[in-house]
Amino acid sequence: MSVHPARIRRTSLLSTGELDRARVLDTLVNNLDGMAYRCLHDASWRMIFVSQGCLALTGYGPVELVQNATISWEDITHPLDRPRVRGQIDAAVRSGQRFTVDYRITTQAGQIKWVHERGIAVPDEQGELVIEGFIEDVTAQREMAQAQKEAELRYRSIFEHASEGIFQTSIDGRYLAANPALARLYGYASPAALMAGLDDIGTQLYVRSSQRERFRQLMAQQGEVLNFESEVYRQDGTRIWISENAHAVRDSEGQTLYYEGTVQDISERKRHQEELERQANHDMLTGLPNRILLDDRVEQGIARASRLGYYLTVVFIDLDNFKFINDSLGHGAGDELLKEIANRLRHCVRTSDTVARLGGDEFVLLLGDHFRASTVISQLRRVLAEIGRPVMLSGREFHVGASLGVAMYPADGEDPASLLKHADTAMYAAKNRGRNNFQFFTSELNRVADERLNLEAALRQAIERDEFEVHYQPKVDHRRRIVGVEALARWTHPEYGPISPDRFIPIAEETGLIVPLTTIILRRAFAAARDWNRRLPTPLHVAVNLSPRLFLSGDIVAHVASLLEEAQLPSSLVELEITETVFMGDSDSVVATLGDFKALGVQLAMDDFGTGYSALSYLRRFPLDIIKIDRSLVTGIEHEEEVAMIARAVISLGQSLRKTVVAEGVENQAQFDFLRYQGCHEFQGYLLSRPLPQAEMTRLLQAGGVLAAPARPASGFAPLA
Ligand code: C2E
Ligand code: CA
Ligand code: CA
Repeated sequence: MSVHPARIRRTSLLSTGELDRARVLDTLVNNLDGMAYRCLHDASWRMIFVSQGCLALTGYGPVELVQNATISWEDITHPLDRPRVRGQIDAAVRSGQRFTVDYRITTQAGQIKWVHERGIAVPDEQGELVIEGFIEDVTAQREMAQAQKEAELRYRSIFEHASEGIFQTSIDGRYLAANPALARLYGYASPAALMAGLDDIGTQLYVRSSQRERFRQLMAQQGEVLNFESEVYRQDGTRIWISENAHAVRDSEGQTLYYEGTVQDISERKRHQEELERQANHDMLTGLPNRILLDDRVEQGIARASRLGYYLTVVFIDLDNFKFINDSLGHGAGDELLKEIANRLRHCVRTSDTVARLGGDEFVLLLGDHFRASTVISQLRRVLAEIGRPVMLSGREFHVGASLGVAMYPADGEDPASLLKHADTAMYAAKNRGRNNFQFFTSELNRVADERLNLEAALRQAIERDEFEVHYQPKVDHRRRIVGVEALARWTHPEYGPISPDRFIPIAEETGLIVPLTTIILRRAFAAARDWNRRLPTPLHVAVNLSPRLFLSGDIVAHVASLLEEAQLPSSLVELEITETVFMGDSDSVVATLGDFKALGVQLAMDDFGTGYSALSYLRRFPLDIIKIDRSLVTGIEHEEEVAMIARAVISLGQSLRKTVVAEGVENQAQFDFLRYQGCHEFQGYLLSRPLPQAEMTRLLQAGGVLAAPARPASGFAPLA
């Protein structure tokens, strides 16, 4: 508003009709926050008129200012600002223009104030040049503006110097602002270069272009994103990982205007994380995925298989006799073997399939994309063939077999845990079936596995409660005179009834319960043998089965010795039956253990000869006294030429090596006659007697110890004299 004091003066002289207007103007001018004035264009800005506002502005009343009565405006003007004020007003006066000028004044109280003055030079009523104008206090505004400017500078500095990238982007993915740190982060020379070069964030920045859409969705839903992690391209095409924290900036109606936020380079952390993850998810020896990652893959595999309608096949692999190689050649060789097998397995599967190692010699294959069991089978055959190829370890060639257990989604389980468990169950079945083969899971297998767990618990209790008995099966010479007995464990569970040793012995072996169990059997058998031998004219041998597991613990010989001592039984009356698995281990320590047994005075028998590997070298190398021909070679001996041939060979081999040859499982006279004719020394089997409780065995021995032949049918073999 510009007020013209000249008019005020003039209107005051006018008629009553216009007097009111003069008064209104007067009131207005005098009530303005600020000071209206007319002054001369001279060295002191001598005031001719000032409005009432001068008092509030300067602390001087109009009377003091007009005609420089107390002080001149030049004096009130801050000394430092005087030349500038004069210069600006002089220039305006010369050109006849309006002027505005900001400067400081000193008030009557000595306070410095900032004022804003605008005015113009006009001729007065007498035609003399005067200046008319208005001066107002702008101290508060100036301070505010100053504070704002400083704040802005501070923010600017944060923006410019922050180590985090800072950005504002439009909703459609362009940069509105970027700081130097962001430019550096993304590999641009400057923020300007960044903003010019990156004009579609969604497609140019993010490695996964869907990230920008996710970003926008989160913004729409929550108005912010926190720790939003993405992989992005730098200008040179290299990739880094970033984390963004940002929010949507909205107008008063809630419409999103743009996004702003910060960016951090987290590549280092990501790399670290990935490495940790890799270590946590992989087996260090072979580099294969471990159990944790496998579970994950099975989960994903199930999802894919159910979507696409194929089978997901889980194959459990356990190397046969790995433990023996590991123990006899050392862990270095064991590790080599595992690495070699891992490589071979990798080559047997497609890239989309998984080979994992669960630890020890257990591997798992995860096969997708099979629509028929038959194609799975041909792949498993390839796997077995690959594993079966010879392996060179410590300069020697080895053959390693494997037992494979197979479970298929969806038939054999619908979740990772049950699929893995069932494949494991099937693998055990494959092992029991004779190794180096594969076995599909069946619900029957599952039942057996469940039962096994129950049995394991029952077995523990049975040992505590002493539910075991020992039965004795006679062994006779060619005249059917009892020369020995084999002690056989018997277990009758109070609820399940009698349980065959073929079922509980393997469980006892796997759980370590075989040690206390064997102690029970040895103790009973030794005591019985002592009692019988006291009353018998001729010595009676007692044979006890020793599990291969017992050979792994060092003190088995001392243990047997102490039990012999305890029973007061001469060691010469004892035979220990051992299966050939024992001989496959670390042969030096086995030879030593067997030597210790020989030194103790007991006899050693190789049990179940003719099954499994039956390497002749074992017979030469180890100090064995007795060969027991396996039942499977006796069954069918009388009408299967091939079986008969093997039996014949074994017997003559035993004879030439000066071993006692015993046939077990002799069920009929024809078998007995054949074996006797071939020169077998001792015979055991249902034909002669079933295993008997101790009391019955005692009666049999008291009755003379000869197992009479039944009325004999013609057998076709000439009996020996
Ligand atoms: P094994 O050492 O081969 O024992 C002979 C098995 O054949 C016994 O079965 C016996 O009852 C059976 N048998 C004897 N004569 C005949 C016959 O004429 N026909 C048929 N079909 N079978 C006959 P059992 O008692 O069921 O024992 C099975 C296996 O369990 C034994 O085979 C042995 O390996 C193991 N075992 C038994 N008792 C013990 C023990 O105290 N300790 C250990 N470690 N293993 C034992
Ligand atoms: Ca035996
Ligand atoms: Ca046997």
